[in-house]
Amino acid sequence: MSPTVVLMIHAICLKCGTGKIGALAQCPKCAFKPERTEEKAKSILLSDRCARMPMLLKVGEKIARGEKLKFDEADVHKWSDTIEAAPKPVVKHMGLTRRQWTLIGVAIGAGVAFGFCLAGAMLLM
Ligand SMILES: [Zn+2]
Repeated sequence: MSPTVVLMIHAICLKCGTGKIGALAQCPKCAFKPERTEEKAKSILLSDRCARMPMLLKVGEKIARGEKLKFDEADVHKWSDTIEAAPKPVVKHMGLTRRQWTLIGVAIGAGVAFGFCLAGAMLLM
């Protein structure tokens, strides 16, 4: 690997031990991407957030050789909890969040109601 590639590596793949740019990034070699909470937790443990890169690369070599990794259950649980507690990404519709759509709906509704009121007031006058 070239030095620039090594600099971009901040984690290793849970499945094959290949270096990748981030704990939750897709593996460039085996295309594994942590989806389940436990996989994410373990992937974070295999990133430079939790360990030094030279050590992780050694662990990566072990994974590449097919050696089974032993995770500290307490660590996995800790990260699983952290991941579960993290706010879920907001679902967006056409670039707007549900809350923004609600506000637009309220604004339009209020505008229509206001228009009716105005029309009603004019009829009364
Ligand atoms: Zn991989």
